[in-house]
Amino acid sequence: MAKFDIAIIGGGILGTTISYWISSQYDLKICLIEKESDVAMHASSRNTGVIHSPFYLNPKTQKHLAKASLISYEMWQNLALERNIPWNKTGVLELALNEEQHKSLEEFMKWGIQNGLSEDDLTLLDSKEVSKKEPNVKGHSALFCPKEVSSDFGAFTREIKKYSEKNGTQFLLGHKVHSIKNDGNEVTIFLENDIKFSSNFIINCAGGNSLDVAQLCDLAKEYSDLHFRGEYWIADKKYSDLVKTTIYTVAEFKGYPFLDPHWIKKANGQSEVGPNAVPIPSPETYSGYLGDITTSISKLKEIVTGNALKLLSDPEFLSLISKEWLSSISKTAMIKRVQKFIPKIKPDYFSERGTAGIRSPVITPKGKFLPDVLELQNSYSYHIINYNSPGATGAPAYSAFVVQKLQESGYLDYPKKIKKSIWNFDKVIDQA
Ligand SMILES: Cc1cc2nc3c(=O)[nH]c(=O)nc-3n(C[C@H](O)[C@H](O)[C@H](O)COP(=O)(O)OP(=O)(O)OC[C@H]3O[C@@H](n4cnc5c(N)ncnc54)[C@H](O)[C@@H]3O)c2cc1C
Repeated sequence: MAKFDIAIIGGGILGTTISYWISSQYDLKICLIEKESDVAMHASSRNTGVIHSPFYLNPKTQKHLAKASLISYEMWQNLALERNIPWNKTGVLELALNEEQHKSLEEFMKWGIQNGLSEDDLTLLDSKEVSKKEPNVKGHSALFCPKEVSSDFGAFTREIKKYSEKNGTQFLLGHKVHSIKNDGNEVTIFLENDIKFSSNFIINCAGGNSLDVAQLCDLAKEYSDLHFRGEYWIADKKYSDLVKTTIYTVAEFKGYPFLDPHWIKKANGQSEVGPNAVPIPSPETYSGYLGDITTSISKLKEIVTGNALKLLSDPEFLSLISKEWLSSISKTAMIKRVQKFIPKIKPDYFSERGTAGIRSPVITPKGKFLPDVLELQNSYSYHIINYNSPGATGAPAYSAFVVQKLQESGYLDYPKKIKKSIWNFDKVIDQA
């Protein structure tokens, strides 16, 4: 049976960057197991492609992701330049539609500075200034951040894979992990088709399946998850420049920020609006499960299990379902929500479907959405769960933080090697 020192499960942007950092510093046998035929086939390519600036992340509850996003910006910028990956500085307007939401913008100004952004990165605009900047956008006020960039996280992940492979990582593509056994002396990883091998240590970066993989290692049994497909629509070419800046709005329901529609300037020059939020049964259901409201409610009852059932007695969640979310299942209803801030747009400006990506938020034992990343470990494994937006932005630094924790816990006691590196590990850790 083949034996590795470290086995990483999941070849998204997180697993691939972790494989890069470990393989660039240590002389060891490392593999990355990915069930698809290449890296970044799921969330790491199926996203909006925005390099986010962390003004909207609460420095108390989302501190690590905020720090990681800030530090990673320059790392992505350098790699984009070196490897010819798109880097479109579109800027973002975070819009408030009323006085109540404006208070959130004032809070975001403070959070942005606490998270390390400079005052030049953030400007509060009143309604007239918003219209002056973007004549087709209407809002009570906005926070403008010129730093925001549109890029291609799938392309980044594929580049990092090449560097990691050069360092010695074996990418075992097309292999799905279906069980893990630890007998006290050895950890065996079972793949499909009766293939198995052993590893001293496992790092779980399985994205929408990471909770399931943690549960295979007898961890996180008290958590459950839900999967929402976010669907986007591409603006027909002649409407693409109706708005030139990426537009987000302050979340109407603060606990569920991923359900408010936005206008995205993509790295390829197209503009998309979305998402429609469709509850689905698995992290890879990219089509189907759309229906009328009655069908969706009955599907929701099939999908929601475990702790997530408690959500159905949360008044905010129910209000979201009845007023906004289920009504946003159709393109027309979603565009109606966008018309609140881009009054000119019409459903027939969007004839082609854009990216569909799946978010898999973790639900706590109390039946609430977990706001931050969940990291769990035991003697033979480390798990990164609920690694959601802006996870792609923060991946280079966040994965370095994980590697540092593994070093401190003694899981990386292998001979060091000096390799020419695209990024500087010590510099990332010093900035944290
Ligand atoms: C619609 C949407 C929009 C987003 N927009 C942005 C954005 O603009 N900016 C931003 O920073 N972030 C954004 N995000 C978040 C970001 O995309 C994710 O945080 C990030 O891609 C997560 O990376 P990952 O490597 O953890 O997961 P993934 O990319 O999902 O990778 C996990 C991998 O594990 C593999 N896997 C799973 N189970 C197994 C198994 N049993 N055996 C082997 N392999 C397995 C999967 O095939 C997959 O390739 C968005 C997310 C979504 C869904």
